[in-house]
Amino acid sequence: MPPAWETIIGLETHVQLRTKSKMFCGCSTAFGAPPNTQVCPVCLGLPGALPAANGAAIGLAVRGALALGCTVHPKSVFARKNYFYPDLPKGYQISQFDQPLATSGTLSFLSAERGIVNATIVRLHIEEDAGKSIHDRFAKATAVDLNRSGVPLIEIVGGPDLRSPAEARAYLQLLKQLLEYIGISDCDMEKGSLRVDANVSVRRVGDTALNTRTEVKNINSFAFVEKALTVERDRQIALNESGGTVTQQTMLYDSKENSVRPQRSKEESHDYRYFPDPDLPPLVLTPEFVAEQQSELPELPGAKRDRFVATYGLSREHATVVTASRAVADYFETVAKTSAEPQHAANWVMTEALADAKDHNDELRVSPPALSQIIGLVKGGTLSHQAAKRVFAEVAAKGGDPRSVAESLGVIQVADTNIIAGWVTDVLAAHPTEVERYKKGETKLMPFFVGQLMRASKGKADPKLAQRVLEEKLAS
Ligand SMILES: [Zn+2]
Repeated sequence: MPPAWETIIGLETHVQLRTKSKMFCGCSTAFGAPPNTQVCPVCLGLPGALPAANGAAIGLAVRGALALGCTVHPKSVFARKNYFYPDLPKGYQISQFDQPLATSGTLSFLSAERGIVNATIVRLHIEEDAGKSIHDRFAKATAVDLNRSGVPLIEIVGGPDLRSPAEARAYLQLLKQLLEYIGISDCDMEKGSLRVDANVSVRRVGDTALNTRTEVKNINSFAFVEKALTVERDRQIALNESGGTVTQQTMLYDSKENSVRPQRSKEESHDYRYFPDPDLPPLVLTPEFVAEQQSELPELPGAKRDRFVATYGLSREHATVVTASRAVADYFETVAKTSAEPQHAANWVMTEALADAKDHNDELRVSPPALSQIIGLVKGGTLSHQAAKRVFAEVAAKGGDPRSVAESLGVIQVADTNIIAGWVTDVLAAHPTEVERYKKGETKLMPFFVGQLMRASKGKADPKLAQRVLEEKLAS
């Protein structure tokens, strides 16, 4: 039975820019300082303090917009978004409203259900962060930490182009990858440097008009994106099927309960009374400035993946895995070049290297030259693949030169015909019955002899060479 309901999702993503200082003052943006130690009259909102826009933050925002294929406008305007909240000392947030920094971009991602989807980026604008309310520090009281007040953000508003919670996750993963690639944010959801709100609605399959949507907030970990949206989608479908209607409201996700609840109405404010900030001139960008930001962009993940397919002959799937992050892509490419074995390099990166990195804080612990050497030792017959994995693990844990490590582990393969011939003589002498049977035509005994020889050599014999010598001796 085809699904009766279609889900429509659009994401609004807030991304903290990687700057040393705040958006409109010189205070530090470092994470984890004691509360209210990184503040000044500007970000405390004291009367008479004047903001001045941070050029570095503007440059990073422009890079983000360019990487998303947006049109960057030569003139944009900072506006005041007015609302009352304890963690907002000025009573307004400086944002951009009717004249944002950039509009009309695209993010193409791979959907498991629909293939390549070109999701629209409606707009990208600059704003400042609010402070943080802390509810668990004092009994029956809320504390406010203003270290985060004024930290630079971009908000990336995606169109209603996503059709399932899984697509939302795929879109967000790709967006995160792109922003990390270009180095404008660390995109750490746990530290709050990447935050996502989702607009969700459902409609009967075949309908074209959009129904009333809700906004899901409080999705504070990557793992919860799909869960939170599934819960809200199912709630809306159940509501519709029982004859109810969805009302426009903000839903807060509770990850412990895996449920959503409406935000209390007094926490909501629909009229922000936006107006241009009289303390800040319009943001005017010269073509030279925009071109300079463009030149700072590295090769983007999609282009890199296509190049790896074309240059190194990798499959699209393999190229996608090794371009998952910029660090992994650079690592793969160095190993591919120095070993001249791109497919082997990709295999090692996708298995041993990434598995080891996963257990060690994403650190690629075996250097590219060391991995190239390991690949070379396997290719030259010095190490079996199994032994090479042991050497890799040892080099990862303790460092060192792979060949010396292999020697000290005693796993160097013996590819010397004379030594192997000695083992062959011993094995044949120890198994006269099997030799007899083999000579009478039972050639399926060969794996038995190879196995015995590997045992006699304590696993050090080059198995291919061993089989050749065995065949020669048994034929004579
Ligand atoms: Zn400040």
